[in-house]
Amino acid sequence: MPRLGAHVSTAGGVSRAFARGEAIGCDALQVFVKNASTWAAKPLPDAEVRAFREARAATAGPGAPAPLPVVAHASYLINLCSPKPEVHAKSRTALLDELGRCTALGIPGLVLHPGAHLGEGEDAGLEGIARSLDAVHQEGADLSARVLLENTAGQGTVLGSKLAQLARILALVDAPERVGVCLDTCHAFAAGYDLRTDDGYAAFMDEIEATIGLPRVAALHLNDSVFDLGSAKDRHATIGEGMLGAEAFARLIHDPRWGDVPMVLETPLGDDELGHQRDLVTLRALRALR
Ligand SMILES: [Zn+2]
Ligand SMILES: [Zn+2]
Repeated sequence: MPRLGAHVSTAGGVSRAFARGEAIGCDALQVFVKNASTWAAKPLPDAEVRAFREARAATAGPGAPAPLPVVAHASYLINLCSPKPEVHAKSRTALLDELGRCTALGIPGLVLHPGAHLGEGEDAGLEGIARSLDAVHQEGADLSARVLLENTAGQGTVLGSKLAQLARILALVDAPERVGVCLDTCHAFAAGYDLRTDDGYAAFMDEIEATIGLPRVAALHLNDSVFDLGSAKDRHATIGEGMLGAEAFARLIHDPRWGDVPMVLETPLGDDELGHQRDLVTLRALRALR
């Protein structure tokens, strides 16, 4: 059975994520380790770090030999290739801070949107991202958490919509072993990868093998898409209610090549805030059906 879960709120403290995840049936979690829409944040209190580690350890037990897999998602403000010096500097500092938080919490991967070149061009952007990652790796030599570069829908000047662009960043960084990848189904579809069909999915998997390599993929984001194939628009839909449709997810969660890579939802919560719970039920029903 794949590790299906969701992005959960950390309101009231990061350790609260586990109770929230358990309540909706998560076998994997994604969290923010600070407010995702602000630059500055107070350090994590030691007590909160302890509470998080204890709550995570408690998820292992009879029937669950390993603790729950957790990934973090970085702030949306970070742009490692911003041509604006202030944003560029703040981005590196913020990424270093977030990797430090993840390391303290024992979270191995921090999902990051690679960046937007804002008119400087693709080559300069990819190079800038790699140099920023190098700088962060150098300054954070002791940090165990890795950046997981996420594929994007390709809106505007955003980089990372093509797997080859992620592969290029990996080829350019000094320490590629410190960088993984997170793949988002909505973003891939919006970027032109047709995950609706057997052939399209097979071609996507082949391209993963030919570019970043499957072992590099440390997390998946399962999101349906409001907009159509190749739209370059990033708007997530409820599983089965978007342009991707349920069959695309049935195919993916039955693919044994994903092994125990955590698969987390970032779908709309809806007015009752129960969207993720419903989507997990949908995915598990798809799993049982095939
Ligand atoms: Zn995502
Ligand atoms: Zn998205």
